[in-house]
Amino acid sequence: MKMNRINYLFLLVVILISFSCQKSIDPIADTPTTPTTPTTITTKYPLALSPNNLLVSIQVPSATFSFANDSYYGIFSSVDSVKVFSDIIYQRFKDNFDFIFIITNNATHLSNQPYGVNFGVSNSVKGTGAAIFKNGWGSTSAKLKSFMFLPYKDAISYGPTLHEICHNWSNYIPKGIFKTIDGNQASLPEIDALDGHWGVASTNGQLGGFDLATLQTLTDAPNHYHAQSGTNTSFGLFANGGNSLAYSPLELYMMGLAPKSEVPDITVFSGITIDANDFFNKGNFFATSKRSLSLDQIITQSGIGERVPDYQSAQKEFRAIVAVVSPTALTTAEWTSYEKSITDFFKKSNDETSLFNFYEATKGRGWIKADQLNLESK
Ligand SMILES: [Zn+2]
Repeated sequence: MKMNRINYLFLLVVILISFSCQKSIDPIADTPTTPTTPTTITTKYPLALSPNNLLVSIQVPSATFSFANDSYYGIFSSVDSVKVFSDIIYQRFKDNFDFIFIITNNATHLSNQPYGVNFGVSNSVKGTGAAIFKNGWGSTSAKLKSFMFLPYKDAISYGPTLHEICHNWSNYIPKGIFKTIDGNQASLPEIDALDGHWGVASTNGQLGGFDLATLQTLTDAPNHYHAQSGTNTSFGLFANGGNSLAYSPLELYMMGLAPKSEVPDITVFSGITIDANDFFNKGNFFATSKRSLSLDQIITQSGIGERVPDYQSAQKEFRAIVAVVSPTALTTAEWTSYEKSITDFFKKSNDETSLFNFYEATKGRGWIKADQLNLESK
């Protein structure tokens, strides 16, 4: 599976913390389009367009749905299965999508699966540490950047949507700049944080890390530190609470959505050891080395080079399609629920919920258009 650059399963503890964040009220009300009867197109499995052209459903045999739920990576557990689904989508739609989100229609997250996975398809951006590649999954052009697997219905609103999107550009910084550790198994040594996340660093974002303002040197033992993210008592080595927080400046830089000048120096630790209780409940960890690195130092020491394209010319608007895989036709209530989630998460304005949509999480600099799928029909 690594041949297909699985970027990264992760055991995201989606802490569904709806902390109250102040948000301006969007003065522009959505104008709902007139609902129409869902359109069904003939493909291997029936594909139906939602009443307001916001998503599609792909209705599969019960055995296929069971496979999707019993397998760790859902339909992505089989390359053949991925081809079936991408063929269904591209038989119906033009090759205009940057991202394809595949959701299995489960009410809740299943314990045998990750909360989300980004499966890279192509990358043409230099300066992130990620290879330049195109693996041929899905579209034949280099337009499609990734499939993102979300195994339950609320993943769009609560996360890990923002997290998985970030994996298109982060974290692929090599040379041991960022270090992490398995917080549950203190006997395991620290490793380079090349699992896609930030580890023990003041990155405080979607891919983990702590808020530098909370960092304390503890006096009860040598090399003992405390740090946290937001209102959590600790911080995540790979995530920080689903869609309840925005992207950090370093994440925005990697995504092409912030200039270098916005990225503060990053404090990175190494020589890390963790006691699970001390870390998860108190945000405490041991580290023998603490460094503060500017973005230029990170770029130079890791060898990733400058981002090309840079902030000024980077792509900032994207096109996506959300496909829900279900063993039965979606009910009216399900269509309505999914359309609400997709409208909120992908709108080009604040969504007036306590959670962050993509536009909000990018300071209004990025937008993923997911609506008007009828315009993408072949
Ligand atoms: Zn991840």
